[in-house]
Amino acid sequence: MKKLDKEIENCRLCRLCESRTHAVPGSGNVENPLVIFVGEGPGKNEDLQGKPFVGSGGKLLDQLLKNAGLERDQVYITNIVKCRPPKNRRPKPDEVETCTSHYLEKQIEILKPRLICTLGATALEYFTGEKKMGPNHGKLLKAKKSGIPLLPTYHPASVFRNGSFRALLQNDLKKIPEIISKDE
Ligand code: URA
Repeated sequence: MKKLDKEIENCRLCRLCESRTHAVPGSGNVENPLVIFVGEGPGKNEDLQGKPFVGSGGKLLDQLLKNAGLERDQVYITNIVKCRPPKNRRPKPDEVETCTSHYLEKQIEILKPRLICTLGATALEYFTGEKKMGPNHGKLLKAKKSGIPLLPTYHPASVFRNGSFRALLQNDLKKIPEIISKDE
């Protein structure tokens, strides 16, 4: 995992490297994370610090994870693309393809989580082809390629745009402990 992190930090495979301060490989439990969370891409704070979900969305995520009985150091958190897209635009299809095929899929292979929890529409679409969050969040699906069980939910930042998403996101996250305890 350390070798892959180094590759990500030095990556120049797509245009996103040109405007980044730091690439953000991911952080958390690399020994045995039962669940990995996958967001869209680093924002401003993440780009400055080289760590995922450290801004206001990250603080909210920490709180919601805690309420669901999960600590950040039990899980692994990463993103679809590892470098901040300019002005936080959505990553382009070629950036998603390059970054996931070189890095995210390898991270999943190494970490072998029991569950992938996607945060937001970009990660949902990448793993399932589904574009709509409404009918899919909180449902147990399967990730394309790896076949690992997948739970989609809203992106924490969406709560700042619409407060009613907070309860939906919290409710989805509360399903995780039961899902990951099933085949122990
Ligand atoms: N939003 C994301 O999708 N990922 C981060 O790491 C931070 C904000």
